[in-house]
Amino acid sequence: MHVPPSIQIENLSVHYAGQVALQGASLAVAPGELMALVGPSGCGKSSLLSAVNRMSDLVPGARVSGRVLIDGRDVLSEAEDVQALRRQIGMVFQQPNPFPLSIAENIRFALREHGVRNKAVLEERLEQALQATGLWNEVRDRLDKPALGLSGGQQQRLCFARALALQPSVLLLDEPCSALDPMASATVEALIDSLKGRYTLLMVTHNLAQARRLADHVAVCWVRDGCGCVLESGPTQDLFQSSRDPLAHRYLNGLLC
Ligand code: ADP
Ligand code: MG
Repeated sequence: MHVPPSIQIENLSVHYAGQVALQGASLAVAPGELMALVGPSGCGKSSLLSAVNRMSDLVPGARVSGRVLIDGRDVLSEAEDVQALRRQIGMVFQQPNPFPLSIAENIRFALREHGVRNKAVLEERLEQALQATGLWNEVRDRLDKPALGLSGGQQQRLCFARALALQPSVLLLDEPCSALDPMASATVEALIDSLKGRYTLLMVTHNLAQARRLADHVAVCWVRDGCGCVLESGPTQDLFQSSRDPLAHRYLNGLLC
């Protein structure tokens, strides 16, 4: 049976005033799979992610064209409810960015923003999200303490918990381990691995070994003639072993940058 992709990106371009950050990107991610976006800085990876959840709307002068379908939903349509879309598409960034609130309020606040008011539901989702990120046992006796008092890795897992509490189907991860020490990075990597199958994941990483370990598919991005683009994408093992594009091949084999 043919299963439609959960994320389908067709001919996506992102322009900022006078500059083409990304040109003509097409990618598809099957439900429950993880696609890693790799490539040097400045080739449009973050711009691609920000088009997928309409964060690019917030950048003055940004223009997005092409088509993005999330579970069949036409993300770039004028009629799209952006608030509902951001509930369906969670995002985690490089720098852990908890709100300057308590651990519990970080999650309750996000839920209330998205219309969850029932106290029992708030508490249930809070515990579920902290359990899912392995934080519950570490913080259950200090839920009312400031989130900013947690270690970097715990803060990042709290950011995952905040996104998961909204029960998304897709997660966009922009270098989620890059700012963490090796131990915290390994913990967050294990968390990401545990999310595969239940969520569809699109993750930017500069760590090729991590892409190889985690990703079902990889897309290699590049800057060509001043524009960001996707050079090649495919199943992880195929791409690392025998990418057709010579630049992609050299990049994946550590022969460039
Ligand atoms: P990557 O994530 O691969 O490093 P980005 O998507 O951040 O790439 O950037 C792609 C290009 O778009 C870069 O040349 C960058 O300078 C430019 N760019 C990114 N964000 C903005 C912005 N808000 N305004 C103008 N130019 C931007
Ligand atoms: Mg980036």
